[in-house]
This record gives sequence, C-alpha cells and structure tokens, in this order.
Amino acid sequence: MSDFCVECGRDADRLFNGSCAECYLKGKKFVSAPLVIDVIVCVHCGARQHKKSWVAPDQPLIPVIHDAVISSLEISKELETPTFEFSEEYEDEKNLNVEVTVRGLVAGFEVEEVHALRARIQRSVCGRCSREQGGYFEAILQLRARERDVSPEELERAGKLVHEELAAMRSSGAENAFVSDYQEIHGGADYYLGDKDAGKQLAHMLMQKFGGEANVATKLMGQKEGKDAYRITYLVRIPAYKWCDFIKWGDEYYRIASLSKEFAAITDLRTHIKKQRRHRDLDNAKVVGGAGMILEAVILGQTPKEVQIMHPKSFKTMDVLKPEGYSNEGETVQIVVIEDAVYLVP
Ligand SMILES: [Zn+2]
Ligand SMILES: [Zn+2]
Repeated sequence: MSDFCVECGRDADRLFNGSCAECYLKGKKFVSAPLVIDVIVCVHCGARQHKKSWVAPDQPLIPVIHDAVISSLEISKELETPTFEFSEEYEDEKNLNVEVTVRGLVAGFEVEEVHALRARIQRSVCGRCSREQGGYFEAILQLRARERDVSPEELERAGKLVHEELAAMRSSGAENAFVSDYQEIHGGADYYLGDKDAGKQLAHMLMQKFGGEANVATKLMGQKEGKDAYRITYLVRIPAYKWCDFIKWGDEYYRIASLSKEFAAITDLRTHIKKQRRHRDLDNAKVVGGAGMILEAVILGQTPKEVQIMHPKSFKTMDVLKPEGYSNEGETVQIVVIEDAVYLVP
C-alpha cells in the first residue's frame, strides 16, 4: 500500500513520522559530536587515558586520537553499521583539528555526516610508566653462570631476548611486564621486573636458550593491602660452557654443538661424532676455551685417512687422522691444538 509524504506530497511505500525516507533523513542528524575533546596521552608509551584506565599503549598518536574521537561521538541507534573516515590538521603542537565523516544505514538508506572537532593533546604519565620509572618490581630475575662470569656477548643476547619477550607479554595484556631496574652484578645480571609471572616465563626462556637450571626463592617482605607481600627471585644459572666452547670431559675433548634447557649436544673432537648429554652429566666437564682457540692451517696433502697440514705456529708438517666421513676440498683447515694434540674443528 502506498501513501503521501506530508512534506513533499510524493507517493511513498514507507513513511517515517508521516514523511518519506528522503524528507525524513534530510536535515536530520544521527551523530552528535563535542566541539572539543581532551586526549591525555602518556609521554613514555603513548597510552591514552580513557575514563580511569589507560588504553592501547605503544601506538602512534594519530590512531589514538581517532579512537578518542570515535568514543566521544554519540551515535543514534537508528544509524546502523557506522564507518568513520578522518582528516586532520595540526593547528599547533597541542591542538589537532579533526574532521570525521560518519557513514551508515538508517532504515536501509545510506546517510553521511561530517563533524569537525578539536582534539586538545595533553601529555601525562600513565600508571604503568610511573611504576616502571618509580622502580616498582615484583620479581628479580638473576642470570649467572657456573664457575665463570656471564660473558658480555651472553649478557647482550640475554638482554635482547628478555626485552623481546617482555614486549610480547605487554602486547598480550601484561601491562607490568617491564624492567624497572637492571644491574650487572656478581658476574651476571639482575633484572627487576614489574610482574612476577614475567619472571617465571623469562627464567624458563633463558634456560631454553642457554641451558642450565633455575631456582626460585620467595621472601616475605611484609603486608600490602592486608595480604602478605612476597618478593620472588628467579636465579638462572647457565652452564660453565657456552655454545662453540671446547671442553674436556672424562679423558676426551668435545665441542659444544648446541644447547637446550636440559641437554647439550657435544661433538667428539677426534671422531666428530655428536651426542646429547644432560647438563648435570656434564657437571665435571672443564672448559678448555672458546672459538678464539681455532687456528687456520694450510693443507699440504690428503690421503683417505689423513690430512697433512703445516702447523700454523711451529710450521712443522704433521699428519692428522680424519674422522670418518670427513672431507675438506679447501686449501686450509680449521684446527685446534690442545695439549700438543691437533684436532680438526668439527
Ligand atoms: Zn517527502
Ligand atoms: Zn605509559
């Protein structure tokens, strides 16, 4: 059935308060926007204050402002599936003029509205960053090595891994996954962590990467909001040997081929046969040295069983037995000399 629009008099299948859709939609607003919004942004991480909490840290400012604009709009329930398009221009450092175009459907008809507002940017410090800067911590992660100092390379690698892991934890919602203090101390490093669960996860991760063992110690520090407050210390002790080190274990010499949480893969220097051993079985292994021991020797000749080389220090000619399956087409070979014996480096 058809009827007349009270405004334009045309036939219409469907009336809204007596008007056809076109007349009804004309001049009617479905979105209201404030003239000015205040966007409070953390100077350190870029989080935005929303009511009493802080949202979406580590983001560029413009999308943060877009979010703030969207949440400042009052959108009529009649407007369905709204989409937003922005253009903006800085008036000065603290003021951004934003134009937002809202499109959607009202009773099946497309509508479009443009609103202009000013975003005033205020800089502040969010709760997480003030805790981080204030040295707040729940756990200490200690990295140490058996019978030696943690090397500068290991400290650097551990630091990189720790910060990558913490960034991943933060992006999945653990806002206190930060290092509030760091000290290189007692031949290793201490990380002061804002989140005790992060401490556990990082201890596990470091063991995976470096091998070794972890201990946890809990100390009652007093009361916080009526509950017992504990300080948790995770101690990760990595093995005396590092990846690529040469070790003496029993009467044989080996090179560390790889490390995991529980195991080391070790390559016999004489046979080049690789085997897996638990770290605790290698407790009495002695580290002979690292990659710095490797020398380059000129190959003088080869037989199926031996390589004839010139000793790089004494310049004497010597024959070294080849491990089974060994081949070297080059003119030089890497060797390591331990207690006057020469080994081909696996
Ligand atoms: Zn009409
Ligand atoms: Zn922050």
